[in-house]
Amino acid sequence: MRAKKPATARLEGKYTVDAKTGCWHWLGGTNGNRYGRCRDSNGWLRPVHRITYELICGPITEGLQIHHVCGNRDCINPVHMKAVTASEHANAHPR
Ligand SMILES: [Zn+2]
Ligand SMILES: [Zn+2]
Repeated sequence: MRAKKPATARLEGKYTVDAKTGCWHWLGGTNGNRYGRCRDSNGWLRPVHRITYELICGPITEGLQIHHVCGNRDCINPVHMKAVTASEHANAHPR
């Protein structure tokens, strides 16, 4: 029987860690918004920061958005992310 590779192993080598900020900068493919994308364990192409967040912090509550506390959209470090509601998220990005 072939062991299923954990998602974290598939992410290896696809990001660099910024020692100063602690950000994990995604090196893989992105969509038009500069958000990284990657296939999750079910084969779905999804924003990679949501995949890492779920790996470390557990499932994202339905309807919640993931906010980058560090402000780097290519960062995939779950520690730098916060699950927020749409209105909380709008407040987090004042214009
Ligand atoms: Zn970060
Ligand atoms: Zn945000």
